[in-house]
Amino acid sequence: MTVTVRFAPSPTGRIHIGNLRTALLNWLFAKRHPGGRFVLRFDDTDAERSRREYADGIETDLAWIGLRPDTVVRQSERIGLYDAAAERLRSAGLLYPCYETPDELDRRRKRLAARGRPPVYGREALKLTEEDKAQFAAEGRKPHWRFLLPNFSTDPFAPERTEVTWDDLMRGAQTVDLASLSDPVLIRADGSYLYTLPSIVDDGDLGITHVIRGDDHVTNTGVQIAIFRALGLPVPAFGHHNLLTTVSGEGLSKRSGALSLATLREDGYEPMALASLAVLVGMPGAIEAMPDLDALGARLSFGEASAGASKFDPAELDRLNADLVHAMPAEAGRDRILAMDVPDDAADAFWLAVRGNCAKVAEAAAWARIVFADDFERPDLPEEDRAFLAAARAHLPDGPIGESSWRDWTGALKSATGRKGKALFMPLRLALTGRDHGPELAALLPLIGRERVLARLA
Ligand code: GLU
Repeated sequence: MTVTVRFAPSPTGRIHIGNLRTALLNWLFAKRHPGGRFVLRFDDTDAERSRREYADGIETDLAWIGLRPDTVVRQSERIGLYDAAAERLRSAGLLYPCYETPDELDRRRKRLAARGRPPVYGREALKLTEEDKAQFAAEGRKPHWRFLLPNFSTDPFAPERTEVTWDDLMRGAQTVDLASLSDPVLIRADGSYLYTLPSIVDDGDLGITHVIRGDDHVTNTGVQIAIFRALGLPVPAFGHHNLLTTVSGEGLSKRSGALSLATLREDGYEPMALASLAVLVGMPGAIEAMPDLDALGARLSFGEASAGASKFDPAELDRLNADLVHAMPAEAGRDRILAMDVPDDAADAFWLAVRGNCAKVAEAAAWARIVFADDFERPDLPEEDRAFLAAARAHLPDGPIGESSWRDWTGALKSATGRKGKALFMPLRLALTGRDHGPELAALLPLIGRERVLARLA
């Protein structure tokens, strides 16, 4: 069996860090299995809210993280398959037309609630005669279609406890009682499909072996397993992960654009900072920045995900990002450094010098301007420091500035002026960089170069 998973966003906005959690859990699960496949499925049957540009954007977002699907499918191009499945259910008497308006359903639910009964649909539409239906049709009323849940032995109006069970990859043994649920609407009155049936048909058609998704779908899974069986399709394994919320506990929404990968990318976060946080929050062990997806996969334990909501804390993302940046090898940052007008032959040394002072790679640009473009305000130093800088100029070791120049220079200055500690370093730092803190001057000095050092001391 080839392990095949799918990530199935509806393209109604760009994906956020919570969606990334789902995508990555699927991807990492597939990569654990030799030959494992990752399908990207766009759930775009809702023509009004779905947009191709969002779908394309989602592919871009995933590629940025390093997720490249083996197959991409769009539900809007597969309607024929859903029609065929609906027809099979209809002819088996498992899909029945209903004519209630939302208002009617609402009133009924309220009546049930008033009597202390659960708001389960009473299958009133099953009682409609052919004449009733003809009458509705004559009035131009179009039905929506419900799936008849297999929760009774002979009388659909007398549902009995019917357990659907599965061994969830993340939550262990799960049970849903089909008698506690309303028959799900599979097709709207305008003929469009809700998510349930297309998802099942696609999972069957694409050979999905494992469905890994948010735990807001746990109840759906009970219903979907019943429909898989009704269609004679193999039932995949299921895993439901807990959902990410904001720190104040609100759910994340694609439509609001909050915490979208696109925005976080523009804000300069590293893909592995996002990936690490998206996966490790709510998992056992510390939340650490993983250098790549393989390392992240090795940290992942599917059976131990916590069941409660996991909070997305932006401060945590900042911390992980800074950890990654501080340890980022020169080659990983090179393209971005070169784009900051840093000379080719200095790029690697420059990055290694400044990375410890950057929480995001983009912050290196300010240092590049300071080091290579004299772009900083000359400090207004007191008279005695200016005299000290004149001495510093005179004691700058001869020849090209190298690794040991700083040590030699400050050693000589110490003996010549008697200054030490902050009194020795701070005027130099201020004169050379315009700032009172920053990367090691020993590393910056060779990059600033002899001429510029002398000019800055003048
Ligand atoms: N489009 C559905 C969603 O985003 C997919 C759920 C599933 O994975 O089955 O919630």
